Amino acid sequence: MTVPRPAVRARGWATRTVVFLAVAGTALLGMPGTGSAAPRADPTGTLAPEQAVRVPVGAEPDGAAVTLDASVFAPSDKGQHPALLLAHGFGGSKNDLVTQANDLAGRGYVVLTWSARGFGASGGRIHLDDPDYEIADARTLIDTLAARPDVRLDAPGDPRVGVVGASYGGALALMAGASDPRVDTVAAVITWNDLADAFFPQNVTSAGAPAGASSPAQVDRVPQPGPFKQLWASRFFGSAAAPSPTTPPAAALPATTGGSSTAATSAVCGRFDPTVCQLFLAAAESGQPSDALLSVLRAHSPKPVLRTLKAPTYLVQGMADSLFGLEQADATARTLSGQGTPVAVRWIDGGHDGPSSTAAADEESLRTWLARYLPVDPATASTATTATASTATASLPVPAFAYAAPIPRRQSVAPILEAPAYVGSVTSTTLALTDATARPVLAPPGGQPASVTTIPGAASLAASLPAYQLAALPGQFAAFDSAPVADRMSIVGAPRARLTVTSSSTSATFYLSLWQVTAGVATLPRRLVAPVTVRTTPGAATTVDVALPAGTWTLEGGSSVRLLVTSTDSAFTGTRAARVDRVAVADATISLPSVAGRVVSGDTTRDTESIGVAAAIVVVLLALLGSAWWQRRRRQHEPARADLIDVPLVVDGLVKTYKDGHRAVNDVSWRADRGQVVGLLGPNGAGKTTTLRMVMGLIRPDSGTVHVLGDPIRAGAPVLARVGALIEGPGFLPHLTGLQNLRAYWAATGRTEADADYDQVLEVAALGDSINRPVRSYSQGMRQRLGIAQAMLGMPEVLILDEPTNGLDPPQIAAMRPILHRYAASGRTVVVSSHLLGEVEMTCSHVVVMHAGKVVTTGTVAELVDSSDTTVVLLGPGADAEAVAERLRQVAGVTEVDVDLDPVEARLTVTADLPRAEVVRAAAGTGADIVGITSRRHLEEVFLGVIASASASDGEPGDGSRSLTDRLRQVRSR
Ligand code: ATP
Repeated sequence: MTVPRPAVRARGWATRTVVFLAVAGTALLGMPGTGSAAPRADPTGTLAPEQAVRVPVGAEPDGAAVTLDASVFAPSDKGQHPALLLAHGFGGSKNDLVTQANDLAGRGYVVLTWSARGFGASGGRIHLDDPDYEIADARTLIDTLAARPDVRLDAPGDPRVGVVGASYGGALALMAGASDPRVDTVAAVITWNDLADAFFPQNVTSAGAPAGASSPAQVDRVPQPGPFKQLWASRFFGSAAAPSPTTPPAAALPATTGGSSTAATSAVCGRFDPTVCQLFLAAAESGQPSDALLSVLRAHSPKPVLRTLKAPTYLVQGMADSLFGLEQADATARTLSGQGTPVAVRWIDGGHDGPSSTAAADEESLRTWLARYLPVDPATASTATTATASTATASLPVPAFAYAAPIPRRQSVAPILEAPAYVGSVTSTTLALTDATARPVLAPPGGQPASVTTIPGAASLAASLPAYQLAALPGQFAAFDSAPVADRMSIVGAPRARLTVTSSSTSATFYLSLWQVTAGVATLPRRLVAPVTVRTTPGAATTVDVALPAGTWTLEGGSSVRLLVTSTDSAFTGTRAARVDRVAVADATISLPSVAGRVVSGDTTRDTESIGVAAAIVVVLLALLGSAWWQRRRRQHEPARADLIDVPLVVDGLVKTYKDGHRAVNDVSWRADRGQVVGLLGPNGAGKTTTLRMVMGLIRPDSGTVHVLGDPIRAGAPVLARVGALIEGPGFLPHLTGLQNLRAYWAATGRTEADADYDQVLEVAALGDSINRPVRSYSQGMRQRLGIAQAMLGMPEVLILDEPTNGLDPPQIAAMRPILHRYAASGRTVVVSSHLLGEVEMTCSHVVVMHAGKVVTTGTVAELVDSSDTTVVLLGPGADAEAVAERLRQVAGVTEVDVDLDPVEARLTVTADLPRAEVVRAAAGTGADIVGITSRRHLEEVFLGVIASASASDGEPGDGSRSLTDRLRQVRSR
């Protein structure tokens, strides 16, 4: 019977998964794929019509009979031909393989394709390559082939047959080959060795593995499962949920496995075997696999049966594959190689996440493989039988190991390299990390937000995203960089390192990835992460060996690698409890594997343009590094000052010019002593923030020094632990509560909880119950108070607050005053920058006034507002203040009279080289209605006075059009 061309289906995710998996396999199984929509290609008329076959197989566990929907594609000539079973990917059906089957039939094979049970028009349910169901079905299909007159037999009932499949079909091919000695060869593409390891990956390796790895992608994982690869599991469900034309949804499911309710489960599970499905659902809910699920997944894997696989096996595994990584094929290859089964390994640069760039060469190598073990010409059949029995790797028809190198710039096809062996081919070198010391990594509560590296099945989409920013979320990662490599370097295999983890929990999970950094840009070519779940003793450091995702990298000279450790990854169900762990790299090295491969296709020669650019970058970098090193060395060797050991803060001769040439701070010197609240004042742009940033070591001065308690300040100086600061507004993680933010911040300092003084600090924050609300719901004032509280954590000896009153309302500002007074009264020191002069006057004991990058005056507030040459005359309502001022200006010795026409009480500020009594007498002599005399000016007046005279002496354009009073009004209105 001739089967009509199948219609294209449209089932959302399921369809996409089908097409995707079909395409991933297609490159190796025939013509570049168009999947199920491909017309039958038979231009030479050498093919018999496609025959639909219904094959009865074993019943379901509930006794329901199952028939598989199969098709046979055969050459039209009368002879006997070798046969092939062609198995489809998960979520697909036999229709996905029409093109490939036709192609192979045209080359002289009898090809049988079928829809696995639970898929397409076949009956039954999906058991996930269960040895008792799908694998038993494959043996029945081999019986079917053996009964065909056009299939060549090696013995009665024993056809000359190979099993070829990708992904779901690939594991089936390996397991069928292991369970049926009639299978003459196996080709397994992008598939698993152990399904439990694939869904719960764990890249903590047993001790000693870095030195002991014998194959490039070897991961001898410790027994504890890692986190759940949830996103891929969801895609499995999505593609299995479609109803079957012949199998109704599982209506009555046994509610024995702790999963969801039966009705809901049956809707979600679609055609999945309900037992397997419920185990998966329970894992998805808890994030943890049950022992039952692990043992089901392990049993539905090639791993436990490989010892009986003797047929030569070709393993093709993808590097762009976040589902089944290279380590899966590696484990299969090592087992087969160890027992003498002929095996070849090919690493392609495609996989479940994208297509292979070398599809044509991949395809050709598979044909070469099949031609050897399933020769179409019967004359060579006996030779092939002998070869099948041979265990010599040297007799393989393809290289024992072939791998795709990264695609060079401006090319689209990966170079392919070959090595004479897979196992034993790897050597490793170590690369030093510039700084491997411990740093905090926050695991956010609820596991959100999560880093995004992998987008399962969508490498091309992922390529358009800002990769590093999405992977390295603030606070949630640690990055360890190597120094730039001097010469070009090829990495082939799984890089390794030793991580030291200190956690407050008994288990901490991280996701590792190896980034390539060129000219400051970090890229992760295949977007793979390796999860590690480390068993820890709370508070104690634990060191473990870890393997990173395997692949191939080419590092040009001048590039470096970055080991990124994140606490979350969106493709996995991660830890939900918030924690701050500390992560370091033990030995400060990373071990990079390599293989002495020979280029057989493509161009790996140097890209001279890039090399030129890289060389130039290296020269510039070296020059910059040299100068930075020299400066750093100078600073690091700056001695502590014994004479300043009791002085909380001394700023001496600071100069800072920004890149645009603007000198923001010019020879600034001042000091703050114990018990003082020092106000740093100045108009906008005076250089206050720039000064404070230098004080905190956030930016480097061009010259000058800052000493805190005698120790010089530079970035990361240990003495900064004695300084608390709020500079340029608080920065918090919005999804964490106020208290969680404080705890995370404190944990990152590495000091004990008891030192934090949470009680006092929370009193300052005065946030009440809101301290337990996410910060994203806070008003600006609440954030500001939390920022001040954060700066006070641990009650540091020096507290620096840049514009602390920003966002606070008047009662809150007033409440802050006694807090700062008390803080300083306890022998500590407070420095505040502010433009609220009235506030500074009431809060600060001392002021430093800056203008245009310079200090224009310093002193106590009392001295500044209470100067002997100034007398303030307060006039009653109705007094003609201007007339009185004019008369006073005529008095000899009076230098300035300023008028503040307050409607209630006009003020005349008289500056004179006269005893105050004479000024008072002269004022009274005008006959005006005087209601008060004081020696105290407002700080605002002092401030504007000094700013005005500083501007004048700097030769700035005069401001004569505006009186001091006008300027005061302007300041007040800010
Ligand atoms: P404000 O009260 O407005 O915050 P400030 O006294 O804190 O002012 P700074 O922020 O230190 O002043 O700025 C001093 C001068 O340096 C300003 O002219 C500012 O424009 C300039 N400046 C500040 N940061 C930079 C930078 N990163 N690059 C270039 N110029 C800068």
